[in-house]
Order: sequence, then C-alpha cells, then structure tokens
Amino acid sequence: MIAPVRYTVASERPEAHVYRVSCTVADPDPSGQEFALPAWIPGSYMIREFARHIVSIQAESRGRPVAIAKTDKHSWRAEACAGPLTVTCEVFARDLSVRGAYLDPRHAFFNGACLFLRPEGHEGEPCELEISRPKGARYRDWIVATAMERAGAKPHGFGAYRAADYDELIDHPFAMGELALDGFRACGVPHEIAIAGRHRADTRRLARDLKRVCEHHIRFFGEPAPMKRYVFLVTALGEGYGGLEHRASTALVCSRDDLPSRGDARVDDRYRTFLGLASHEYFHTWNVKRIKPAAFTPYDLDREAYTGLLWAFEGITSYYDDLALVRSGLIEKKEYLELLGRAITAYLRAPGRARQTLADASFDAWIKYYRPDENSPNATVSYYGKGSLVALSLDLTIRDQTRGRKSLDDVMRELWRRHGLTGIGVEEGGVERIAEEVAGVKLRNSFAGWLRSTRELPLETLLAAHGVDMVLRSAESSSDRGGRPAATKTPGGLARLGVLARSDGEETVLTHVLDGGSAREAGMAAGDTIVALDGLRPGRGGLDAALAKRAAGETVKLHAFRRDELLEFEVRLKAAPADTCVLSELPGAKRRLLDRWLRAPRG
Ligand SMILES: [Zn+2]
Repeated sequence: MIAPVRYTVASERPEAHVYRVSCTVADPDPSGQEFALPAWIPGSYMIREFARHIVSIQAESRGRPVAIAKTDKHSWRAEACAGPLTVTCEVFARDLSVRGAYLDPRHAFFNGACLFLRPEGHEGEPCELEISRPKGARYRDWIVATAMERAGAKPHGFGAYRAADYDELIDHPFAMGELALDGFRACGVPHEIAIAGRHRADTRRLARDLKRVCEHHIRFFGEPAPMKRYVFLVTALGEGYGGLEHRASTALVCSRDDLPSRGDARVDDRYRTFLGLASHEYFHTWNVKRIKPAAFTPYDLDREAYTGLLWAFEGITSYYDDLALVRSGLIEKKEYLELLGRAITAYLRAPGRARQTLADASFDAWIKYYRPDENSPNATVSYYGKGSLVALSLDLTIRDQTRGRKSLDDVMRELWRRHGLTGIGVEEGGVERIAEEVAGVKLRNSFAGWLRSTRELPLETLLAAHGVDMVLRSAESSSDRGGRPAATKTPGGLARLGVLARSDGEETVLTHVLDGGSAREAGMAAGDTIVALDGLRPGRGGLDAALAKRAAGETVKLHAFRRDELLEFEVRLKAAPADTCVLSELPGAKRRLLDRWLRAPRG
C-alpha cells in the first residue's frame, strides 16, 4: 500500500495573515526530493507565482534538520534522507480574490495551489490533510466549508480530510470562519451554500433559486450529476465580483447587495448578476472541469498551458450562464434579451475586436486578458464576451440550418459523452469537428470567420431569423450599458470624446483613449487629468454633464494635466457611435422559434 502524502494547515497567526503548512513524504526520492508550488491556478490563466508568498521553508526528518535549497522561482530540493521527510513553510495570505489565500481573525479562505507543495514523483499518490482550528476563544465558533472528502473531521469541522491525488487536493478550496450555511438537494445531490462576511441575505430564497439553476444544468447534460456533493463558497464584501470553478465547488466573491434581501421577491439587476455568476461557475463543473482542452490534460502548473480553445470553455459557458436563468424561469424573456443586448453592446464598444481574433485572444490570455492596460480596448477582444456571442451565433446557425432539429445543446452533450465522461482532452480543432458532425452541416467557413478573423459576427441576421429585432443606437451617458431603449428622445445622443474615464473627486481622469475617437485625434492620452473644458471645471457631473449641451462637430478646448505638466487640447467632438444594442421580440410567426430557443431543452 502506498503511504499517503500528509499535509497540515495551521492558522497560527491570523492577525499577521500567516498560515503554517507542512508536507510529509514517507519515502522521499533517495537522490534528493524535489518540491514545487504551482505557478498558476486552473481557471485563471496567468502566471501568479504563488511561491512569492512563501516567507520561510524548512525540512526535517526524524527530528533532524535536512538541508533544502531553491532550484528555481517555485521549486526546492531537499537533501537525500531516509524519510519520512517533512517540509514546513510559512505562507503570507492576504489575497481576498477567489484565486488566492486569505487569513485574518474574522475569516479564512485558501486554494491549495497557494499552500500545498507538490512532491515531485508523488503527484499520483493519495493525500491526507489535517486542518487545525486557530488557538483562542475568538475562534471557538469557526467552522469549515469545503467539498473535500472528510477523513475523520466532523461535518464542517476541523480535522482530517483526504484527496485521491495532488490534482484533487488543490481543487477543493476551503473557507473557515463563522460562516452562514444553507443547502438544498438538486437532482438528489446535496448542495451547500457557505457565506463568509457580513450580510443580511435571505439564504432560504438563495437556496431555492440556486436549486433551479443547478437542476437545469444537471438535466442539460443528463443525470446523474458528475459530483456527489457540491459547495458554493461565497465571500460577501462591500464591493466585489469574481468566481472560480472547481470539480465539486466554486469560490464566489460578490457584493453583499447582490445577494437577495429578505422579503424581496424580485430578481433585480444586482441579484441577477449574482445568479448569472453562480450559474456560470456551475456550468464549468462540466465544461472545463471535465470536458477539458487536451492542453490541460494533465495541467502543467509550472508554466503556461497554451490553448486556442478558451472561447469554447469560457465563451460557451458565458453564453449558457444567463440562458439558464431564462430557461429555468428565474428571469423573463424580456430580461434575457436585455442581458444579451448588453453583451452585444460591450462587444461593439471595443475597437480591439478589429485587431485581435478570438483564437489569438484565447492563446494570449496569459499575457493579455489577465494583464489589461490602457491600450487593451484598442488591441484585444474578450474571449468571454466575443466567445459568448460566437456561441450564440453557432447555436442560432445550427438551429437555422437544421430547421430546429439540432442546436448547440446537442453539441455540448456530445462533447460531454466523448470527452467529459472519458477524461480524454479536446484537441484544438475538436469543438469545431464535433459541432459539424452533430449538426450535419458545414460550419468550416463560419468558424474561420468567427474564430480566426476579425470579421463582424452575423448577429442581426441570425437574431432576426429567430424573432428578435436588433437595433443599434448611440449611448445616452457613460453609464448606459445598453439593452434598453433610449430613455430620452434626443436624436444622435451625446457628443463624445471617445474615452473611458473615472472621476477622482472633481477631476476626471482618462483611463483609456479609444482608437477613432475625438480625444485620440486631438492627442490626448490615458492618464490625462481633465481640469477644464472651455475654461470651466467639469465638476462632479464629470464629462457627461460637461458635454451634455455640446453637439457633434463643435470644437472644445480642454485643459489637462499629464503628470505635472498642464496641456491644452483643441478637440473636435464627434457624434456618439451607434454602439448600443437593444433587442426586442418581433411580432409574428417567428415567436415559436424564439420560445423553442429560450425554453429548457428536453435532455
Ligand atoms: Zn468561467
């Protein structure tokens, strides 16, 4: 029998945000045992170098110190010894994001990728984890939430847990603290919600609504669900948004105002955002956690794992996250069309869609999507945003060309059968091939246009064929995200500078200057702080208020600081482009097609 690799996690100094973590290998490599910490975490495609948070590291065997030395930025080598060999490190944890590790006297959260050393050559061995309660009276009521299997710990208790191998060990994040718990069963599978942070959420309602989303997704791919239980680990903050998928859980960070409040029956804009996020991560339980690109099978956590397929794993998931809300009856058709209108608006507003293809956006996620800068809107396209619109185009094209006999739903179920259930990675052209096969129609040219060129997507035609009218108008203000008809009847909308900006007190700081806009032509740059427009301070209303009475074609004089130098610009204002999308249902015979698209498929 193979001795498991043993890990311990202690929160010795929560106020200093330091975990003490050990890893014990019973039979270390006789020529010297190597250890490494992942450079990235699956689901978030950027080199994060978690090893930079390791404060100290020591090794010992049978009570005697063993020399351990670093061999590269995230690897160590311990001198040869008979074993067992224990390596102990202190890890600084103050990253509140879903990708990191966090510890303070109020709450703790960690991803194994941030804490657990991987002993080279022992990755396939079972792991045991002992997790201990911080010492002191204030931690008496702390509990533990995780999807990792218990191996002696009581439900929600500190103590022993186990994982089949290293890959599983780091795929079950932990939350600890005075967590609010609720739960439900979806298609017979127990689901749990654990919320950290202050909130006044109606957790009963949350459980009821999430149950509908989860059952929808399980039935979409077909029962039984691929996990024995599932945990939503939620951290509620003042402001926050993010999620990371795992095989049997998800970590979500949200604003506490996005959670449903007691006595409120509506799914408002904010709660819809939360449900969309939860739906997205849950869909990943199939699409990316089990149907995986070949490039992730297995994950190489030492370096970038390049794939052109993120459009399928993030884009298709982004398409189905909101679609599941309307199909499961949580939102109305009209609300869904509003969300879709907003997604199209966001896509149309980035000039970078004419520069970067979707396949390139996916391949370069490591250095571009996750590391945005002041030129990103001009140079890149989001594989989430455009990816979801390609998924929409693919779905509607298949429905159209097969007269409704097939859809993207069938493609996803075939991917599940061939790749999810078998664990065989999807080759780079695999999604395209399976889509053509399942639909029985030629899609080669469509895919080439959508994925490997910057041609515009045929959204208007495809939507019209499914009973949806797509209208473009200009934005009414900088907070106009689209999806709804214009509130005012001013023709042409505002004159625009062609910038993205943030208010800093009474000043307006340009964060991005868009290609083709008037600010770009006048020579303005990101970082410029506008202090006056025609001699007057823009004030708290920002650029919207300052430009409200101006028309396209007028020239204005702008004063702005670039670093500490005051500059003057003559800016000829352009009309706001028609980049704001509004979708509505067309009356008539197409209604049946629309209803068939937006209703739950029969699995
Ligand atoms: Zn995702």
